[in-house]
Formats: sequence, structure tokens, C-alpha cells
Amino acid sequence: MQVYKFGGASIKNADAIRNVSEILKGVEEDQLLIVISAIGQTTNKLVALTNAYLNLQANVNDLLEDIKQDHFTILQDLFGAGNHRIFDEVSNAFVEVEWLLEDEPADTPDYIYDQIVSIGEVVSSKIMAAYLNEVGCMSTWVDARNYIKTDNNYREANVDWHKTELEMKRTLPAILNKGYVITQGFIGGTSENFTTTLGREGSDYSAAIFSACLDATALTIWKDVPGVLNADPKWFERTEKIPELSYHDAIELTYYGATVIHPKTIKPLQNHNIPLFVRSFKDPGEPGTKISSVAAPVNIPSFIFKVNQVLISIMPKDLSFIIEENLSDIFQIFHGYKVKVNTMHNSAVSFSISADYEENEITKLIAELSNKYHIKYNTGVELVTIRYYNQSTIDRVTLNKDILLEIKSRHTCQLLMKNKPSTE
Ligand code: ASP
Ligand code: MG
Repeated sequence: MQVYKFGGASIKNADAIRNVSEILKGVEEDQLLIVISAIGQTTNKLVALTNAYLNLQANVNDLLEDIKQDHFTILQDLFGAGNHRIFDEVSNAFVEVEWLLEDEPADTPDYIYDQIVSIGEVVSSKIMAAYLNEVGCMSTWVDARNYIKTDNNYREANVDWHKTELEMKRTLPAILNKGYVITQGFIGGTSENFTTTLGREGSDYSAAIFSACLDATALTIWKDVPGVLNADPKWFERTEKIPELSYHDAIELTYYGATVIHPKTIKPLQNHNIPLFVRSFKDPGEPGTKISSVAAPVNIPSFIFKVNQVLISIMPKDLSFIIEENLSDIFQIFHGYKVKVNTMHNSAVSFSISADYEENEITKLIAELSNKYHIKYNTGVELVTIRYYNQSTIDRVTLNKDILLEIKSRHTCQLLMKNKPSTE
């Protein structure tokens, strides 16, 4: 039994959905569970809709209409004029959101977010299942909320692995015997059957959960890139595909910010020794990248860029030593503003931290830190992480940059830097 995951870009319009169905028709594996994300930019649009609703904006209905229109345009292209029952199914799914939007927001924002945003995966998976059946691939749609059981930490729910495995093993094998199983990424359900989400871009993680609990022989994540590349093509003209990676390297790369796979995806697969393939839906004949427990992968240098960083230096006003007396206090303050630390470095009397520059939170954070500490900070900073670095890779990324901080371990070098002021 294998698991496939298709992200939003792979099903962004009717032609993309036809392409996915062609890939699936060619599969030889008898048992396949397919995890689907929301279509194209739907989740971003649903987040905007949720915010508009929470802020009592007047454009709530327009935003929803636009999302519905995206889906009905695709349906018309795939199924023609409109008497297939998928039209009603998709309408009914949206009606649930319409009901919710009719009343003023009364529940917590995170709960409301999950109830609205989850609809993207519900409708995309319904459309995919209906289309596969239409073209002769027997498929059964199943509701991931009945299988991925979570706590009620809305927006970033934690999986109850025990209940999840029990539910999946109890009923899914029989359904898998009848044909493909189509389900949703990103969403789960609480024990009271409320919808939760697993965090943005969480569909990869969903696919890993299904794989681990059902003892899949492999998980394949289909992307619009040929595999795991040594840098994001957004930053480098020439990138290299990494043919094989160890679980460990994959975890390190995603931890430092490589966005090709969601960081939580690897661990469940590693625990069950399930290989992960990252392949291109544009080039399904190509092998992509294999991530597994390989002992000696080729150490191709990889580059991970994060822009818009703030680098904050913190010095106790009373000249006490930073480690012994102040570290836990500082982390407490960061935690309070939900600011995630990207790098840290300490000397005897000062401590430097870099984080994503979210203006609102960072401004408050700096104000609070300033009560007890002397603070210096720099915005507009770039963070580059190089895994398997050497001097020439460092030279390549630091050209015309002022390096503010360099942190090196045996395999990884992190550089915080700013553009050199122009001399003209
Ligand atoms: N649709 C969700 C998101 O965009 C989950 C995913 O794509 O993985 O965050
Ligand atoms: Mg997505």
C-alpha cells in the first residue's frame, strides 16, 4: 500500500486535475491512498475570508463568492453543463460556510478559522474523487476528520497517534481493497468531531500520518519541482537536484527553512522506515528525490534563504552574565509574543537572536526587553543557512554583503547579513 500527496499547485485548474488523473491511471500499485490539498490559492483566500468575517468587514460575501466561482469554473470545465451530482455536493459544502458567516462571530478566532479554512480540502478532494470515477478510476472519498484525531488546539492541532492509528487500521484497509481512497490533507477532527487544522502547509504531514499508521511501503509527494533542490529557484538561477537524502539531512534542511516539505513530515516516516519520494507532477517519468535511511548520501551543499529577519542583541543593564542569570527570562518573553527564534549566539555579556520580522510582535517584544536590557537591533537582515558548506559556498552568498554574524557547526554555516551600502 502506498500514499500519494498532491498539493494545491498540482490541481490548480481543470487541466492540472486531468494531469493528476493521468498520473494516477498509470499507477501499478493495487492499493493507493491519495491526500489532496486545497486547489491553488484557495487556502490563502479562505484565510482572507476568515479575517474579513472576524473583523466584521462588508466584503465577506464577495470573498466567498470568488472562492466558489474558482471551484465552479473548474467543475464546468471537467463535467460540462451541470447535472453531475458533484455540483450539488460542492454547493452543499459551501452552504455550511454560508451558515456560519450569517451570524456574528461568537467562538474563538482559531476555532472559526479551522471551520472555514478546512472547506478548501473538503471540496478539492470531492472534486478529485468525482473526476477519477468519471474517467474510470474507481475511487472512494473518505473524510480525514474521522481518521486524523487531534486535540482541540485549533489552527495547530496535535495528533492523538493512538486513536488515529486505531481508526485508520479499523476501516481503511477494506476500503483500500475496493479502489483508490481519496482524502484531505491539513485537516483533522477532535473527539467531539469538531474540525481542526494541522498548521499551514500541513498536507504533507497528513500524508505522513496516513503512511505511518497504515504501514505504507512508500509516500510520494508530487510537486512542481523535480525533487529536493539544493536551493530555492527563487534565489538561485542554477540549482541542482539532490537524488538521495537521509532522513536526518531532510529534517535539518526543513528545520532551517527549506519549504519543499513540511518539517513535521519526516519524523513519522523515519520511525516506520518508510521512504519518501519527492517527484514532479510535470515530469512524472523522472525519479525525483528519495529520502530514506541511506547511510552515506552525497553531501551536496544546500542553501536556505530567509529574508526580512531582525537581529536583536540583548545586554543586561546590570552587567550580569547572560547565561546564568538571564536566559530563561529572555526566552519567556519571546515565548509570550510567539516569536520563533531562527538563530542564537551568546558571548559573556550579550545574547543575539534572529527571528522573522513581524513588525507588530517584534515592536512589543523589543519594548518589553528594553525594561531590563540594553537592546540593539537591525532589521532588513538576510539569513542564509548552508548545509555542507565550504569557503567557496560562503563566498558565493556573501558577495556585496556585510556579515553581521556567522555561526558555524561541523556541517552547517549560518550567516546573518545585510547588503553593503552602495558607494555611489
Ligand atoms: N491547503 C493548506 C495550506 O495551503 C495545506 C497544504 O497545502 O498543505 O496551507
Ligand atoms: Mg498549499
